[in-house]
Amino acid sequence: MISHFIDGKPTDAPAERYGDVYNPATGEVADRVAFATVEDVDAAVASAVRGARLWREASVAKRQAVMFAFREIVNARRDELAALVTAEHGKVLGDAAGEVQRGLEVIEYACGIGTLLRAGFSEGVSTNVDSYSIRQPLGVVAVISPFNFPVMVPLWFLPIAVAAGNAVVLKPSEKDPSASIKLAEWFVEAGLPEGVFNVVHGDKVAVDALLDHPDVKAVSFVGSTPIARYVYERGTAAGKRVQALGGAKNHMVVLPDADVNLAADAAVSAGFGSAGERCMAISVVVAVDPIGDELVSAISQRMAAIRTGDGSRAGCDMGPLVTGVHRDKVAGYVDAGVAAGADLVVDGRSVTPDGAEGGFWLGPTLFDRVAPEMSIYTDEIFGPVLSVVRAGSYDEAVALVNASPYGNGTAIFTNDGGAARRYQHEVEVGMIGVNVPIPVPMAYYSFGGWKASLFGDTHAHGAEGVHFFTRGKVVTSRWLDPSHGGVNLGFPTQA
Ligand code: NAD
Repeated sequence: MISHFIDGKPTDAPAERYGDVYNPATGEVADRVAFATVEDVDAAVASAVRGARLWREASVAKRQAVMFAFREIVNARRDELAALVTAEHGKVLGDAAGEVQRGLEVIEYACGIGTLLRAGFSEGVSTNVDSYSIRQPLGVVAVISPFNFPVMVPLWFLPIAVAAGNAVVLKPSEKDPSASIKLAEWFVEAGLPEGVFNVVHGDKVAVDALLDHPDVKAVSFVGSTPIARYVYERGTAAGKRVQALGGAKNHMVVLPDADVNLAADAAVSAGFGSAGERCMAISVVVAVDPIGDELVSAISQRMAAIRTGDGSRAGCDMGPLVTGVHRDKVAGYVDAGVAAGADLVVDGRSVTPDGAEGGFWLGPTLFDRVAPEMSIYTDEIFGPVLSVVRAGSYDEAVALVNASPYGNGTAIFTNDGGAARRYQHEVEVGMIGVNVPIPVPMAYYSFGGWKASLFGDTHAHGAEGVHFFTRGKVVTSRWLDPSHGGVNLGFPTQA
């Protein structure tokens, strides 16, 4: 049984409620995970309150030292972490290693928290009066994360929250919870005091308890759009600071002058990497006339070479889907696309996997001539299903992208710098790639979408992350000034 992690150690009380954790490549239940009760969440938050009180008094130097030590541990054991991701999520090892790397980069960013927290000082704003600003931690913050990046997404938030002096309660996805426990153990090993980082597993019960808890001051959520909206509304109604990153339907526009080979490689990599279970996956290719036929042919040729199979086996490019239920849901979208009249160019339902018979397999699937009213276009499928929509012009393409309720990521493929510049200016999306299919910002920039892909004002990590996990104070001070002017009931002005 995978247990919660509270007060610097795993909890040992038997769980009243629990869920199954699968190995998606075999379809077998590999373990069970405890589901938190309200009392479990209360215990984790109480521990975090104690941790936060202590930790906010730790010097910046001490917090940086712990973060450096944590970085060294994660870096040295990155393969162990990646293997854990593959075992519970199913993505291939190389891809899992990539997500660990991107998480590490946020830890490295947080190692510089001293510079990041440096604030302003204005000498002499009035006679012998100075003003300066301070950024302080919020106290206890909650992080609620999705199944598709069990390492990277928690690490978008934890390092910055902790380095800034907060205590964290993480509620990871119940589908692949083990990586979060490793991170908690390694943080303790790195010298983080007990209570500063706690993990509670579970479902809506745990999430609601965190959203309602008066001692939780902020919530960083990543998941599907309906839950993101719910978390944002319930959390802000309880007076908390909330950033809730939601789902996506990312479009890649290919203009007629694009390099077809580059665009086809990009569409296949970004459409089928991690079996399409990425919030930055490309799920729609908008082929602007007359490039469509050539592009669809180049994409389908490349798809024939993708080997679907057990992510821990060398030579497999794409793993299984995360659960049997999800696999069936995605396969249902393929059925719906056929029924709606889209051209099924490659059918992943008939894949022969390099893996156990019971694995949650679905091969890469390609539809052409998809229409905007079809469910394969409107819905976030979150699987290896790529749709090609034909557009008559650049204007038609950009209008299609902007009509989407989502606005997470997008890409344009072209050799025309002017067209690319116009696209980045006009498109209503938070993260844009120019001849780059998965434009995930580096740790020192911020990650976040627009519209139904993010509720709240603040994106993850980078300067916006530091801002989210701190609040400001401005001090106005006077020293060594005996001639302060005496009693004056007027509103203070500068002199
Ligand atoms: P999900 O919304 O089902 O779950 C996310 C988290 O919310 C989990 O911890 C889960 O336990 C919890 N949860 C689920 N149902 C809940 C409910 N009814 N009430 C309260 N909490 C609930 O998402 P998922 O399937 O784990 O992850 C995939 C989704 O996440 C996709 O939509 C994907 O686009 C999105 N995602 C977005 C980003 C981004 O940066 N925008 C990044 C990664 C994933």
